[in-house]
Amino acid sequence: MLPVITLVGRPNVGKSTLFNRLTRTRDALVADFPGLTRDRQYGVGRIGPGPYVIVDTGGIATATEGVETLMERQVQLAIEEADHLLFVVDARDGCTPEDIAIAERLRRIGKPMTLVVNKSDTFDPLLATAEFHALGLGEPRAVSATQGMAIRPLVEHVFALL
Ligand code: GDP
Ligand code: MG
Repeated sequence: MLPVITLVGRPNVGKSTLFNRLTRTRDALVADFPGLTRDRQYGVGRIGPGPYVIVDTGGIATATEGVETLMERQVQLAIEEADHLLFVVDARDGCTPEDIAIAERLRRIGKPMTLVVNKSDTFDPLLATAEFHALGLGEPRAVSATQGMAIRPLVEHVFALL
């Protein structure tokens, strides 16, 4: 079975754009993969050391809704079947309280994870990632889903950790 890489993060950080970039498609291939739950968006990507399965989730709700509902069941299931999580944050917004809450939740789950600072196209990568070091999830990686910036190195990084 192909490695399963799952995109998580609050809404509007660019998960779906990154999904399309990682699968190089606009109308993402939605397929039935044995052993995987349906009704999320699955695609196959072949960038760099691929192939891999990429999973797009609807987005984790905001911290104001409380810890219990912080992560919807769908997202929990997607996380459970993942081999590696891409926790996507937004360079423009910087590190938000929601990001901090999600980071806490993901840390407890303990899956292999990479912190992806999307929308870094309008920022110096060092500036874009600087404040996200505080999440304590390792080295943040600056990418741009719309510009296709640093996408292949991201896939190579994930494969090195599988
Ligand atoms: P999602 O809710 O996390 O799936 O986010 P979307 O993929 O729907 O993107 C939300 C918005 O951010 C859209 O308007 C995208 O065009 C924009 N966006 C996504 N990735 C980037 C990026 O790398 N750079 C910039 N500047 N905008 C982006
Ligand atoms: Mg989306």
